[in-house]
This record gives sequence, C-alpha cells and structure tokens, in this order.
Amino acid sequence: MKWVYIEDIHKYEGQEVELRGWLHNKRSSGRIKFLMIRDGTGFIQGVAAEKDTDDEGFALINDLNQEASIVVRGSVHREQRAPTGYELSVRSIEAIQNKEGYPISPKSHGVDFLLGNRHLWVRSSKQWAVLRIRAEVVRSVQEYLWEKGFLQLDAPIFTPAACEGTTTLFEVNYFGEPVYLSQSGQLYSEATALAFSRVYCFGPTFRAEKSKTRRHLTEFWQIEPEMAYAHLEDAMELAEGMVGNAIHRVLEKRKEELRTLDRDTTLLESTITPFPRIRYEEAVRRVNELGESMEYGDDFGAPQETVLAMSFDTPFMITHFPIDVKAFYMRKDSETGDTLSFDLLAPEGYGEIVGGGEREFDIKELEKSIESRELPMEAFQWYLDLRRFGSVPHAGFGLGIERLVAWICGIKHIRETIPFPRMLGRVYP
Ligand code: ATP
Ligand code: MN
Repeated sequence: MKWVYIEDIHKYEGQEVELRGWLHNKRSSGRIKFLMIRDGTGFIQGVAAEKDTDDEGFALINDLNQEASIVVRGSVHREQRAPTGYELSVRSIEAIQNKEGYPISPKSHGVDFLLGNRHLWVRSSKQWAVLRIRAEVVRSVQEYLWEKGFLQLDAPIFTPAACEGTTTLFEVNYFGEPVYLSQSGQLYSEATALAFSRVYCFGPTFRAEKSKTRRHLTEFWQIEPEMAYAHLEDAMELAEGMVGNAIHRVLEKRKEELRTLDRDTTLLESTITPFPRIRYEEAVRRVNELGESMEYGDDFGAPQETVLAMSFDTPFMITHFPIDVKAFYMRKDSETGDTLSFDLLAPEGYGEIVGGGEREFDIKELEKSIESRELPMEAFQWYLDLRRFGSVPHAGFGLGIERLVAWICGIKHIRETIPFPRMLGRVYP
C-alpha cells in the first residue's frame, strides 16, 4: 500500500493509503473511535468503526497513548466538516512505539513548562503551524532576492569587533583571544557587495539583550541584503517588496496553518506596496499625540513603538533618524544632518521588523564616526579599506525573521517563532 503524506491527501480521494505518523489525540463515541493523526505535514482524523477496522487494530486503539508512533492504513474520504476536508476510514493500525506519560497533555500548561519541553512542544498544532510559516517565510525572502540577482554570501559568526553597539556583545574565548559573536553580518555584506554588486547574508546573529521584551531574543536570524551603487530609496523599495512578497506567499501556501492559529488575515490580505512613509520627526510627534512621551533625539522604546504600530493598519516606514540613535556606519544627509536610514514596522502593535539605510562611504566621515563612538579603529581597518578602494554609495538592511513571522502569525511573543529560542535565562533544551 502506498505511503503518503497528509499534505498530499487530496490526491488520493477514494483510495487506500498508508500514513506514518503519531497519535495527536483520540476519543470514542459508542462503537466508533476517532483518532487525530499527525505526520508532520498535517493533521487528519481517522475514523475506526468496528465493522471496517480489523480486530487487532480496533483493540489496539484503546491502549494507544498520546504521541504513540503509529502506521495507519485506510481509505480517504471527503469530509466537509474536517479541517482539511478529508478523513481516513481506518482499516488497520499498528504501533511502532506506545508509551504513556507524554508530558504535554491537551490541558493547558504554563509557558515555562512548555519552553522547558520545547523539544516536544514543537509537535503541538499551533507550534507546528508557526514553524511551518517560518519555513515558508525563510524560503520566500531568499527566493525573492535570488530572483532579483542577489548572491548569498554568508558572514562569519566569530567577529573581531562590535557593529551594533558594544552593550550587547557576547564575548567568546578564541584560543585565548577575546572575540565576539556576530550582532549583524552587515559589515561583511558591504565587503561582498563591492565584490559581487548585489548580495545577502543569512544566518543567526547574537545580542546580549538584558531586558525581557516580547520582541527580543539573544539569538535570532537576520537576512541582510546589500547593494552597491544604491541609495536609501533603493533599500526601502527592496525591503517593502520582500515583506509584501512574504505575506502573499504565506497567505497562498499556508492557509491551513493560519487557520490553525485563528489568525484574522484581513490586514495581511489588504497589504499593498508601497508602504506609507513618515519621517522620524513626524513619528515622534505622533507618538506624543498617541499618549506616550518621547523627545526629538530619543530612540523609540517598546511602548512608543507599540502605540505607533497600533495606529497603522499596514506595514509602514520611518525614515531619517537622527545620528545618535543609529549605528556608526549610517550615512548622513548633508542638508539636514539626519541619517539616510529607515525602519520598516509592522502594524497591530508589532513594531520594527527591518532596519537599514545608506552606508557612509566617505572615509573621513566614517573615521570621525568610529572615533566619536570610541570604537576600536584598529579592528575596523579592513572595513575602512572598502572606502579606500573603489568606494561607492551603497545601501542595505537587516530583516529579522522572527519579528516578521510573529506578525504574520499574530502571536504575542517571538519566542514561539524559532524552533529553539534563546533568551535571557533560557538556553535549555
Ligand atoms: P530593536 O530596536 O527592536 O532592539 P534594533 O534596531 O537594535 O532592534 P537592528 O540592529 O536594526 O535592530 O537589527 C535589524 C533587525 O533585526 C531588526 O529590525 C529586527 O527585526 C531584528 N532584531 C534586532 N534585535 C533583535 C532581537 N534581539 N531579537 C530578535 N530580532 C531582533
Ligand atoms: Mn533597527
């Protein structure tokens, strides 16, 4: 009999198939037993009736425990009321392994317990849905860049210096020398952009975030495109195109997962590019109007970002931040003294998912900026070489995968958007 995956079950209507999976849960009603079977690609209800199911299999069902690994054979039927539209009439069933005591029962558990059992929690239907959407987002952003001619050239994880401020560095002992886990691959993407024109790096980045917020992990994944001969506007267009494409892709390919999450997709469906843009001053003014205080020159904290992001029903962009709230490499607008920078924020209170802009390509300005921030000039000599030889205007951004996934899924905390989250106080499992 043919082994098939639940996600392909619609191709087998009326046929006998074999499913290899696990028992999600079960219930019985008189002489009929209902099994919710999962196989990693989806969930389907198996219906075992005494008259259709072989005796051995029918008896076994009584003893099956949650998460028993099972091989089930039966015929596929359309069923309007089933979430996937199909149901399996069970002919036979065997258990590969069947043990009681699975720690995550259908009753609700506290989040600490669930995080401590993350290796099992990823089997739950909501977590399954979030992580399937994550995989779709990861694929869509990479394909988007590939189609536009970008090369993936990844940045190192061990780095000699900070690029996003020295307060969130993780120091590692590298054969007796201190080095740091990468906070961003951007500086290296700038080097490869001057060698390959359009590039991106994709990988984990690390920041020792000491505050507990629902937006911060200590290990998170960024995709960081960088383009030679490009300006702020080019980076903004690329970012909104990439985000818009990811949303449409998930809406098209991950409907069942969004349904599993009870995600209201109204705003996602109505997302169109270009996204609204406001300058930093305007954003500060609005935050104050919305009842959170901040002054010109401040960075947006979590409460400020939340109220502003609540006031939009589409992703939007804030541009031209003052120099003090942005990293040393941001290019200054020669007229206003502000930076040629932007953040892309998600609505519904989610906030920043992308940060980027134009890079300083004048060596004098860059040296001044490194000095004034008391960064180690020695460690940046290679980076300064990029301005010594063939320097050109260039721009790019970093998109945080977990932030984008959290918004698309409509889940509160980004810890559920990565298979094994790393946060202050959590490195197990
Ligand atoms: P924030 O102000 O929210 O702390 P940031 O401005 O320091 O973020 P950037 O340096 O612009 O972040 O990083 C680029 C992107 O990486 C952000 O837009 C965000 O999507 C993501 N990101 C940054 N820090 C984290 C984190 N600690 N956890 C998860 N994602 C993050
Ligand atoms: Mn940022």
